[in-house]
Amino acid sequence: MARVPFVAGNWKMNTTRATAVALADAIAKSAPREVMVGVAPPFVYIDAVVKATTGTNVLVGAQDVYFEKGGAFTGEVSVDMLKDIGAKFCLTGHSERRHVLGESPELVGKKAKAVYDAGLILIHCVGEKLEQRDAGQTLQVVQSQLDELDRTIADPDRLVIAYEPVWAIGTGRNATDAQAQEVHAFIRESLAKMWNTAFADRVRIQYGGSMKPENAAGLMAQTDVDGGLIGGAALKAESFLAILNAAK
Ligand code: PGA
Repeated sequence: MARVPFVAGNWKMNTTRATAVALADAIAKSAPREVMVGVAPPFVYIDAVVKATTGTNVLVGAQDVYFEKGGAFTGEVSVDMLKDIGAKFCLTGHSERRHVLGESPELVGKKAKAVYDAGLILIHCVGEKLEQRDAGQTLQVVQSQLDELDRTIADPDRLVIAYEPVWAIGTGRNATDAQAQEVHAFIRESLAKMWNTAFADRVRIQYGGSMKPENAAGLMAQTDVDGGLIGGAALKAESFLAILNAAK
């Protein structure tokens, strides 16, 4: 089953309104058609970036969301608000949300359910810390993060798993092709057990963690690597486009 690769840029807490629009515009102008392309700007620029990319094949998404529908949740943003401004996907469980902002597995699971139930594409991030890898716990950690997903998720085209080893994020030290493939294959096997093989075969599994033009082709050539979630290299049109072209 051929899966259309999905490469998404996670802009984190970077850009200004002007640089966000310019970056999105440059990506939209040259993005290859064969790849599904996403960008996740900071909340406050989503609206402007949606406007800048309307009519192109760039999907705009969010880096985070809150699971409640609305009400007294100071500072939070709901899935309906994201949909209202044209967001098409949302990340959950990013390692910075888990380990810097202190989100619990329970909270991550509720957010993932809210994103999926709202009809958005869910990019659910999983990945082990270095000490967990060194202790031989990688697959166990990844499984526990997959277990955060609600089993009522039924559309494999709206579920994307991003495997992002924490030790590779923003460090310049990417997983090797073989390390990535080993965990990606494990994730697909787990999804087949949790759902079924036909479902698992359709789910895109992105690699994230220091993916850049120099290592993208090798990582994406792996059988179970179906794209990437890109941080640092997504902040320049040139490097992001090079990664998109490597995904074709
Ligand atoms: P990086 O970040 O590409 O800068 O390592 C990836 C991510 O956090 O999604």
